[in-house]
Amino acid sequence: MATFSIENFGCRATEAAATALRHQLLGSGLAPAADHLSADVVVLNTCTVTAAADSQARDAVRKIRRANPAARIVVTGCYAQRAPEELAALEGVAWVIGNARQAEIPRVIRELLGPDTNSSAGAALEENSLSLAQGPAKILTGDMLAQDILASVAAPPGASATHDRTRPILKIQDGCNNRCAYCVIPVVRGRSRSLPPDAVVEQVRGLVAAGAREIVLSGINLGSYGRDLAPRAPLEAVVRRILNETALAQLRFSSIEPQDITEDFVALVASSGRLARHFHVPLQSGSDRVLRAMHRWYRTGHYAERVQLIRRRLPDAAIGADVIVGFPGETREDFEATAAFIAQQPLTYLHVFSFSARPDTAAADPSDAVAPGVIQERARALRALGREKSAAFRDALAGRTVRALTLKSGGDGWTDALTGNYLKLRMTGRHPANQWHELRLTAGAEDLVAARPI
Ligand code: SF4
Repeated sequence: MATFSIENFGCRATEAAATALRHQLLGSGLAPAADHLSADVVVLNTCTVTAAADSQARDAVRKIRRANPAARIVVTGCYAQRAPEELAALEGVAWVIGNARQAEIPRVIRELLGPDTNSSAGAALEENSLSLAQGPAKILTGDMLAQDILASVAAPPGASATHDRTRPILKIQDGCNNRCAYCVIPVVRGRSRSLPPDAVVEQVRGLVAAGAREIVLSGINLGSYGRDLAPRAPLEAVVRRILNETALAQLRFSSIEPQDITEDFVALVASSGRLARHFHVPLQSGSDRVLRAMHRWYRTGHYAERVQLIRRRLPDAAIGADVIVGFPGETREDFEATAAFIAQQPLTYLHVFSFSARPDTAAADPSDAVAPGVIQERARALRALGREKSAAFRDALAGRTVRALTLKSGGDGWTDALTGNYLKLRMTGRHPANQWHELRLTAGAEDLVAARPI
């Protein structure tokens, strides 16, 4: 039987797409390979959010080519959508398939492997490898508007919970209608599209039936969910349906833009014990001047209102933020304003990104770039601030009793677990994954909090 492996780069949305693809390939008669070395086909699902993400994908192609020269390499994802020719020029790449055509990957792979994928694939493979070795890589891309989110959503309902991860990700929205000056996502993922509420509920039911206790609802711009549907179906409405119509124990949200953190949404989270008390609210800069230059549509005052609203209603909630340092024209004063702003806000963790100019964006070719050394220094300073804020949050919760879901066990008699408010715990004893435990937090460490069952 012909075999495949998938390597995934980037965000939760790409992870959901990779899970869906894995199930489609299993359904079309291919077997999973133990690793890239033994796979007949290797799919790389790429990210293009930074220049580093691009070069990581190119390195992966080269590495696979060296380690397994017979493998057919199929490259897909955001980099494939943005710059297919760049990837097609790499030696060893058989196909480059953009996001818009991802649904066609199983068909392409079946053709690549010959008419009989299930048996005597070897002969077909040899023939194909000859023609592939001679010809250049083929490209399949298209208009992102044409893409159907149903095709790129999770696996068949329920399939991903048991096979892929304890906390399956369910992508219910793709694309983005905004044009933040640094972001290439709208170019590679197109305009916002949402999975209809009935389909969301069906997916959740399937995942629960397969054993999922927590599901992470995700999207490229999750807060814009449902605005493209007729009738419109806001995120709150679909969340209420999930709560009313499924037995899901816990629903978590991926990133939601500050303007979509409304009073109603926070009240909804506060009203249900089944919604994780965890908000991830991108900030990007704490300088209004930089936010304007980034084409962000809120200012620091609005952001502060939203996160303080969360903190008032939910004193124990995790509140995380993304921040970009070194956006073109960011002065020392802008950076200091960002650090001071973050220090004042009730944030519990930070994801810090160094600015990287992306083609096809407003900040593609900056005349006022910040020096790389300065960017590094600013990133270091904000990461240190993020660690301080995380430690303060953990310390404030020491001694509490919490409920956590087990993730994985280690050899030394411990098990990792996660709370609704995103505390990463290391509990004593080995326990199976995907079980709830009541735990007493005993001490905060760098990243993990020690906890013991009670
Ligand atoms: S909201 Fe801005 S940063 Fe987020 S995906 Fe859309 S354009 Fe990119």
